[in-house]
Amino acid sequence: MEVVATQQELELEAIQNFEGKYPKQLWYLFLSEMWERFSFYGMRGMLTIFMVEKLLLNEHDANLQYGATQAFVYTLAFVGGLFADKILGFRKSIFWGGLLMICGSFTLACMPQTAPQNIFYLGISLTIVGTGFFKPNISTMVGRLYKTGDSRREAGFGLFYSGINIGALLGGWACIHVANNYGWNAAFSLAGIAMSIGLGLFFFTKRTLGPIGLSPLIGKFAPQKIRTYDLLVYGGALAIIPLIKILVSNSQYTDYFMYTVGPLTLIYIIYETLKFSKKEQQKMMAAMIFIIFSIFFWAFFEQAGGSLSLFARYNLNHNVLGLTIDPNEVNNSSNSLFVILFSPLIGLLWLWLSKRKLEPNTVVKFGLGFLFVSASFYIFYYTRFFANAEGVTSLNVFTVAYLVTTIGELCLSPIGLSIMTTLSPKSLHGVMMGMWFLASAYGQYAAGLLGAGMVTANEKAPLLEKLNSYTEGYKHLALYALIAGIVLIAISPLVRKLMHEVH
Ligand code: GLN
Repeated sequence: MEVVATQQELELEAIQNFEGKYPKQLWYLFLSEMWERFSFYGMRGMLTIFMVEKLLLNEHDANLQYGATQAFVYTLAFVGGLFADKILGFRKSIFWGGLLMICGSFTLACMPQTAPQNIFYLGISLTIVGTGFFKPNISTMVGRLYKTGDSRREAGFGLFYSGINIGALLGGWACIHVANNYGWNAAFSLAGIAMSIGLGLFFFTKRTLGPIGLSPLIGKFAPQKIRTYDLLVYGGALAIIPLIKILVSNSQYTDYFMYTVGPLTLIYIIYETLKFSKKEQQKMMAAMIFIIFSIFFWAFFEQAGGSLSLFARYNLNHNVLGLTIDPNEVNNSSNSLFVILFSPLIGLLWLWLSKRKLEPNTVVKFGLGFLFVSASFYIFYYTRFFANAEGVTSLNVFTVAYLVTTIGELCLSPIGLSIMTTLSPKSLHGVMMGMWFLASAYGQYAAGLLGAGMVTANEKAPLLEKLNSYTEGYKHLALYALIAGIVLIAISPLVRKLMHEVH
């Protein structure tokens, strides 16, 4: 046993002592995640519209169900992180999650033209459980490529975040494009093909990861016993699919689910935290503050897939910078395009500021994230002043709002991923990454509720009325985001203390 451990330690040393800016394994994880996000965002961009146009749900219910699916995706990320930490390890979790996602997309691709409901919810449930196993664990693996205190870690997450968004950009654009031109079945098949490429890449490059992501049970139990535990997790994941299917298709159950899951996970995290020293506990407390604020952030940000997707479908013209383009393609892709363009620039800006000792600390960066999102929702609100008599408004102004939202996201999201692996003890990395995504789940859930609250009472209301109703809602969101940003910046000295050496 001793010798194996040493061998593994040496391999890990060799990976973490990489030269240059990025470890080569980061590129492999980057590519796998890129294709996974292609598939995920491709599907996400089609969801609300598919529900309205094919499942014939009204807009109010489509917003709620959209919120529910996204909420489940990210809730299951907590479960995926937990089982990776305790039983499967990150690699097997990613592999299993990827497989389920592929099955989910191809199930959706086989949807019949008439009464597709049953197959639709089955496909979505497979995708939800699969993403839960895949998404948090690949992010945690990125953190494992670095030693504690390696200052290149944030840049690594910045690059990884660009990979996420290259995938999201291509998928968000390509799937809706294929759906519009070749039908929904072809579009869902495309999502399945993308996921297969992602998983294939992971499979063929995973041997470069040394001991990173192997089962935590290796060396503690006999291989036969580990296998039994693995099979139990796989079986459990399959067994909850019918349950998820019921929960997703009835949004009233989502409420009960969300009310219980949050408090239970919180109790669990507190229980785990009690095992550590006071300093570790304080760092975990700081991580929880970031997590709680991020719930609000995602609730605003995730209007993207819900209310903004419907707003784009009906209330926007098709013109951006003189080019004719479907506003939903802009809605699904512009955020990612801006991340890819601006992520390196923001990285350079932080570097430039840090050389002058002016770089804001992590807490203030989070606060700035909210201030940018607030500004962007004021711009979404402002689109109403560019509308014609029918209530169709400027896609250009809408796109500017996305630019500002994205700057906000870059102040918060990649940094959040990175500090989850620095503020928590190693044995809790998966769970804490899962917690970070669980906050997204609550954000998504709240986003659905907020979006549904913006819909006009009358489904057949004229476009002008819809415009006024949505933009009024965006004005409120702008104010809430402003308040959150100010509060966070005000409490930043306190949070810094809890973070100790991490900043
Ligand atoms: N856009 C990022 C991703 O897909 C963040 C998503 C989230 O945490 N809500 O990874």
